[in-house]
Amino acid sequence: MADEQKETKPGFQNPVAGFGVTFKAMFKKRLTEQYPEQQKTTAPRFHGRHQLNRHPDGLEKCVGCELCAWACPADAIYVEGADNTEEERYSPGERYGRVYQINYARCILCGLCIEACPTRALTMTNEFELADSSRANLIYTKEQLLAGLEEGMVESPHSIFPGMDEGDYYRGLVTEAAPGTVPQVAVSKGEKPEEEGADA
Ligand code: SF4
Ligand code: SF4
Repeated sequence: MADEQKETKPGFQNPVAGFGVTFKAMFKKRLTEQYPEQQKTTAPRFHGRHQLNRHPDGLEKCVGCELCAWACPADAIYVEGADNTEEERYSPGERYGRVYQINYARCILCGLCIEACPTRALTMTNEFELADSSRANLIYTKEQLLAGLEEGMVESPHSIFPGMDEGDYYRGLVTEAAPGTVPQVAVSKGEKPEEEGADA
């Protein structure tokens, strides 16, 4: 009997109680984010778009080992490695990542790939605006993922720092490109060397 009273008593009060909840909410701090007009700063270690890093002289850190692709639970990474040559060198060691793709229609931004990378070539940035209406556009290529050139860097391919080897790069002994370092002609990418005397 007591329970029945408990249920029926507040019946006529419910609409008023409902307004009370609304009234209280009017004075609470608003949680609505005004995105994209107001951008929110992400946490420093936020998992956003990936980046393929360079050594301080501009050579690439990726050695094309595919460990990131094997570690990926979403099968989102595709890598094809290739051999460096003295005429066309992209990384200090034997191999480099010739083809590198990340499919952001699959990626869950878990970060397992960057944990697997032995050279710290692959890291993640704070960029999170990756939405697109095309699946093809969500497949980011090496050109899109490769870090830009900072001061002291020369675009790859180019020769290794004279007198240094691969280990010296990882020991931090190379801090910028050697004076006189110039980009090599990327024949493997279909860029043909300019013939001497050819019209500009
Ligand atoms: S962040 Fe996770 S899902 Fe995305 S590419 Fe790396 S391992 Fe794969
Ligand atoms: S990004 Fe790292 S793990 Fe992936 S292929 Fe390059 S070196 Fe290997």
